[in-house]
Amino acid sequence: MCGIVGYVGHKKAAPILIHGLKRLEYRGYDSAGMVTIDKNGANRFRVVGRVQNLDHAISDIDLKMTCGIAHTRWATHGKPTETNAHPHTDNEGRYYLVHNGIIENHAKLRSQLESEGVEFVSETDTEALVHLISKFHDQSLETAVEKALRHVEGTFGIAVTCIDEPSKIVCGRRGSPIVLGVGMNEMFVASDVSALIQYTDQVIYLEDNEMAVVTPDEYQIRTLDNKPIARETLQIEWTMEDEDLGSFPHYMLKEIFEQPTTVDNAMRGRVVLGEGCSKLGGLQSKIDQIKRLKKIVIVSCGTSYHAGMVGRYIFEQLTDTAVEVELASEFRYRKLRLDETTGVLAISQSGETADTLAAIREARRKGALTIGLVNVVGSTIARETDVGVYCHAGPEIGVASTKIFVSQLVILNLIALLIGRYQSVSLSEGVDLLKAMMELPSQIQQILSRAAQIEDLARRFTKVQSFLFIGRQLHYPVALEGALKLKEISYIHAEGYAAGEMKHGPISLIDADFPTIAIATKDATYEKMISNIQEIRARSGPIIAVATEGDIGIRESADMVMYIPETHDLLQPILSVIPLQLFAYYCALYRGCEIDKPRNLAKSVTVE
Ligand code: GLU
Repeated sequence: MCGIVGYVGHKKAAPILIHGLKRLEYRGYDSAGMVTIDKNGANRFRVVGRVQNLDHAISDIDLKMTCGIAHTRWATHGKPTETNAHPHTDNEGRYYLVHNGIIENHAKLRSQLESEGVEFVSETDTEALVHLISKFHDQSLETAVEKALRHVEGTFGIAVTCIDEPSKIVCGRRGSPIVLGVGMNEMFVASDVSALIQYTDQVIYLEDNEMAVVTPDEYQIRTLDNKPIARETLQIEWTMEDEDLGSFPHYMLKEIFEQPTTVDNAMRGRVVLGEGCSKLGGLQSKIDQIKRLKKIVIVSCGTSYHAGMVGRYIFEQLTDTAVEVELASEFRYRKLRLDETTGVLAISQSGETADTLAAIREARRKGALTIGLVNVVGSTIARETDVGVYCHAGPEIGVASTKIFVSQLVILNLIALLIGRYQSVSLSEGVDLLKAMMELPSQIQQILSRAAQIEDLARRFTKVQSFLFIGRQLHYPVALEGALKLKEISYIHAEGYAAGEMKHGPISLIDADFPTIAIATKDATYEKMISNIQEIRARSGPIIAVATEGDIGIRESADMVMYIPETHDLLQPILSVIPLQLFAYYCALYRGCEIDKPRNLAKSVTVE
């Protein structure tokens, strides 16, 4: 959510800061700002809206300064205005601060500082911190920051500069990510690696309650209570090409079309066909404990939660272990009875999702084994879980998650198979599943080759106010996911429902203007789905079915059909979600929506 970039080195800071902010745009924001400094003072620019506006604002100015910090803000306290945009400064204009997160005791700090004569200019919680830093002005910037942070409650990722020490950035974190990039006589600070990869592949993640002092040639890390920390750099594996849009008009479409490769990457080196089993190096160190777990609780949010819901069916089919799935934001506040016989499996694309992170911390405290399923290597959840598996899907820039959902489903199958083969899954069952998995990339390709048909279909529905998505069993979470995709990016109201629940309420909504997408592939619940479709038809509701290739009969029940190839039951959601992703994309396109950056949404939700 929102973003921070900092640069200190020998090059002009401004273009690097703007480039970094552009790379972080996908995280979601409403205003942007930057400051560059040298010994003569500071140049600050802030704008409402896009980073592009900031770029315009500085286009005629030759900013020579080689140190600066920048920010995209996702407003939590105070409207998105220029005055509320970061960086914030103290009354003398010496310190500049950018902040991600929420200072929870800001009101108290504000009234205290105001009583001491400090003048506030913005409505933000952040401003209190910069005045506090100024109040604790000391022999060095880092001591002032350290002292100020002692008085702060809440969450922060921060970067601070001071015109008295113009070749230094001090940053710190509690709850919001900060990563340092190490270059040759230059250093970078950012809230995620996307902002850095053009310049360096050597990074260091700060942990919670740590700060770093960064100068062109050096970085020093210490805890907020001043204990030095030695930490080596980590090499990152993403490249700039991974983030290029290529010939696609939007990242979302690019990522939908990448899915055959995403599936390959999720499976690479993890399939042992001869043994009907998977091999997941990241789980190996705890495999004895994992295969004996009495219960697995999957925790996640948003699309990852829907993956978790599919995961519950997969685990139920493949393992003898009891499985539950919970929204991380609910799980963390429950009265939990967890111990080492429970595994808590956290699913998160970014590995920084605040609620999911809090959930695994709670689980660890109670003694459960924590397992991560994340995409971003080195992210907080990856570091804080006992064991884990990476998606290896490359960056996902579109705010509406697509390829990561599919990757998560592949990996959930691999994890469940790994456990199940120690339990009651037979060799031939394992082999069948894996063989079917290996077909997925070409089957996805087949669905994608019919994108134009789905585009045609979507175009007919762009004026519709509401949509219903229904499915049963593994397709129930797919219905939820299809509805989520549509509302996220096209702003059409959409609801996902378990088809069996239709008669308990939602059928009252059905009329000729309220279409339903029904996932009705050939599986054990096919006949029941057909009955549900008929009930909707009987009330004049238009029906679009997602059906199995070759099912001609369904055309009698549905007005329109999107076909997917036949596959193993447990893998069906991996295919059935793809037409729904494309449908949402094209609806949004024809409604003129900002597909990669939908209003009010952020990619990496680092606040609770
Ligand atoms: N809470 C701060 C504000 O509203 C920071 C928000 C953010 O993380 O961008 O200004």
